[in-house]
Amino acid sequence: MIKTDILIIGAGPTGLFTVFEAGLLKLKCHLIDALPQAGGQCSEIYPKKPIYDIPGFPEILAGDLTKNLLEQGKQFEPGFTLGERAETIEKQEDGSFIVTTNKGTQHHAPVVAIAGGLGSFEPRKPAIEGIADYEDKGVEYIIKDPEVYRDKKVVISGGGDSALDWSIFLTDVASEVTLIHRRNEFRGALDSVEKVRELTLLNKINLITPAEVKELHGDEKIEAVTVVKDGEATKIETDHFIPLFGLSPKLGPIANWGLEIEKNAIKVDNSLNYQTNIPGIFAIGDVNTYPEKLKLILCGFHEATLMCQAAYRIINPGKKYVLKYTTVSGIDGFDGTRKEAPKAVVQAIN
Ligand SMILES: Cc1cc2nc3c(=O)[nH]c(=O)nc-3n(C[C@H](O)[C@H](O)[C@H](O)COP(=O)(O)OP(=O)(O)OC[C@H]3O[C@@H](n4cnc5c(N)ncnc54)[C@H](O)[C@@H]3O)c2cc1C
Repeated sequence: MIKTDILIIGAGPTGLFTVFEAGLLKLKCHLIDALPQAGGQCSEIYPKKPIYDIPGFPEILAGDLTKNLLEQGKQFEPGFTLGERAETIEKQEDGSFIVTTNKGTQHHAPVVAIAGGLGSFEPRKPAIEGIADYEDKGVEYIIKDPEVYRDKKVVISGGGDSALDWSIFLTDVASEVTLIHRRNEFRGALDSVEKVRELTLLNKINLITPAEVKELHGDEKIEAVTVVKDGEATKIETDHFIPLFGLSPKLGPIANWGLEIEKNAIKVDNSLNYQTNIPGIFAIGDVNTYPEKLKLILCGFHEATLMCQAAYRIINPGKKYVLKYTTVSGIDGFDGTRKEAPKAVVQAIN
């Protein structure tokens, strides 16, 4: 059982900034995310796009914002359960919660902050008969650890950035990489398409277009796929079949937690602290709704900050918290580090 002060569901920008604000209040955080990496939409959908409306950053790549948020929170030693979806929640007699993931990992906390954004990203699965039987037996929809494919035969299908980038990457890891796409044109970045064509000429990628995987074969695990091109079927031996057709967000299991939901978002009290209809459960960032809600990163940061104050009062009943500027109080990390503004600077401002 993983124990923490604030259990955050969703490691997007809102969840990551919560770690920092909670840390200032000496509260520990643990984050669960269905994706294998932190960053939410910023790292999954648009890591290379510049954002222009983060206060203090005239321009920052979404991927760099994620890196910075992780760096800012690092001193408060957050825990992570990545690649697992928060599935169920059970309220305990003392008012705390146990959240269990789809892989059975259990987390216990007095406060739960849902920072689930648009919901957990679910992979789009191809309509191939019996594919569910091969899941985790050679069929994967998300690449979590490329080392799994070392010296193995891999068939990837898809026409976007993920399919292109992973095909390129795996040429140095797998023993054989086949990329199958139902069109001749790809939707990914031009330089990735060029690179795939180059590697195809070097016989490092076996590119088959326009074609589709129609059948899967194997007893205990996948052993081969049938690819149909121009009406002709060919069987290709493989250890892994990885369809990378993108991810679609779904509020998913959280929708069944007894929370008030409006238009696929969780209703919260924005006049106070973003608490839901269940005391102790908060919803912050894109996942919540209230009058005049704006789905912007900076709004998620503000909501996280106020929510942490409410969490402090739940965890430390009767204890008063006096807000101090970080410039004045400095920051004591849970890892033993201390950041402090030079005294002379602070005095000069005084
Ligand atoms: C192309 C694009 C451009 C954008 N540009 C801007 C911009 O310029 N400025 C701006 O302010 N905003 C922009 N946005 C919006 C911004 O990305 C979102 O407001 C922000 O990502 C919301 O952050 P979040 O942490 O609330 O949610 P998200 O980033 O959506 O993260 C939520 C995380 O929760 C996880 N999750 C959900 N449910 C579960 C569950 N049950 N179990 C485990 N994990 C779960 C998801 O996997 C996800 O990683 C843009 C969005 C897109 C798509």
